[in-house]
Amino acid sequence: MPHDQHPAQAEAVEAPALPAPEPDGTPTGVWSTGTGRGADGALRVAGLDVRDLAREHGTPAYVLDEADLRARARAYATAFAEAFAPEAGLAGADVYYAGKAFLSVAVARWVHEEGLRVDTATGGELAVALRAGVPGAGIGLHGNNKSDAELVTALEHGVGRIVVDSLPEIDRVAAVAERLGVVAPVMVRVTTGVHAGGHQFIATAHEDQKFGLSLTSGAARKAVDEILARPGLDLIGLHSHIGSQILDLAGFAVAARAVLGLRAEVAAQTGHLMPEVDLGGGYGIAYTGHEGPAPTPAQIATTLADVVRRTCAELGTPVPRISVEPGRSIVGPSTLTLYTVGTVKEVALDDGGRRTYVSVDGGMSDNIRPALYEAEYSAALASRGSAAEPVRARVVGKHCESGDIVVHGVALPGDVRDGDLLAVPATGAYGRSMASNYNLVPRPPVLAVRDGAARVLVRRETIEDLLALDEG
Ligand SMILES: *Cc1c(COP(=O)(O)O)cnc(C)c1O
Repeated sequence: MPHDQHPAQAEAVEAPALPAPEPDGTPTGVWSTGTGRGADGALRVAGLDVRDLAREHGTPAYVLDEADLRARARAYATAFAEAFAPEAGLAGADVYYAGKAFLSVAVARWVHEEGLRVDTATGGELAVALRAGVPGAGIGLHGNNKSDAELVTALEHGVGRIVVDSLPEIDRVAAVAERLGVVAPVMVRVTTGVHAGGHQFIATAHEDQKFGLSLTSGAARKAVDEILARPGLDLIGLHSHIGSQILDLAGFAVAARAVLGLRAEVAAQTGHLMPEVDLGGGYGIAYTGHEGPAPTPAQIATTLADVVRRTCAELGTPVPRISVEPGRSIVGPSTLTLYTVGTVKEVALDDGGRRTYVSVDGGMSDNIRPALYEAEYSAALASRGSAAEPVRARVVGKHCESGDIVVHGVALPGDVRDGDLLAVPATGAYGRSMASNYNLVPRPPVLAVRDGAARVLVRRETIEDLLALDEG
């Protein structure tokens, strides 16, 4: 399934213009913990005034609160180490940061320093993790269509696991491993029929999607047997990833029981007890503050530990080492996007009401999620406070598409105007990583802020960068 979910909004539900929650340092909130308002009403992140950031670095810009990101990474490492400790009757756990959410050399280094491993899905992500100094053994490689070049790089650097996604891939990994004279540690990605996103999960979904090997059709078991028959492959475990932006943990429990069942069946029939099980990522976050509470790392870890302990006891198999792969819930809330307001336009609506269209200097090129998934975001006036009466606003970009919407519905002060700075929170995941050059717009920089100082993690693209690719 796609890594993200389409909310059920088929008949274009009129989004109410909800006020943005104010930044107040709440760790589970929409804003990073270092975000607040100064005495003059302007937004500050980690002690830096956003007006100074905009003056020095321009807009749009992604502003990443380093301490917030590190704290979330550390919270996962601590929660899983505690919940899966041998004293708790379990066999330990590893947390892999899903690099596709956002990866740069600094971010890979930070999450590694905080005790996490790194999941990659392409040669590019692998290169960044390696450049950051993450040891190969702490890197995983995913992908439903890995190239031979990607497999070679992964095996040359001794990656900890290659997650096999199809039957033909088994031969390809075995061939590369043989050529390099190594044994490849592999996992099998199993689709359990559990698909989840937002609040709901479906336990018997159709497997009509590109990822993984199905449990019910027997494809997953066939992959296990084929891997066991190849001496160049070491079958270390099973893998399950059920979706993204998941707020209800029940789907993870159903999927965990399914993969643990297959592990027990394989052990009973072949004598091979796989030492590991990966339960994927996909933990949801707050984007607007109106979606209900997001699960905390401690809640996730204790819920999963409980299921693994009880299921293995019922099956009579020793517990495996567990791994998980959160991406969004580590980097998402750490970052806001800073835009400058341009055109402000008021339009009449069919219901007699009015809507204020607030155009900003970016849009779908720096945040494709609203157009791709009808994702909801929030926004707040960032360069000043305002006591003006709020209006029903829609924040839109500068691209040539009417679907170029940044925030569908939000209440903004009625005096919002050209030159104001606007901040959109929770854009750290799948923002810069999915950014494009649509309309030949250069992609924004990622600025890390910490203790009152800013540092450029990824510089702003320039028109010269774009022209340099054009051979004329
Ligand atoms: C996308 C993905 C993740 C991370 O998902 P998040 O929603 O960012 O936590 C983890 N594992 C796999 C296999 C994925 O495809």
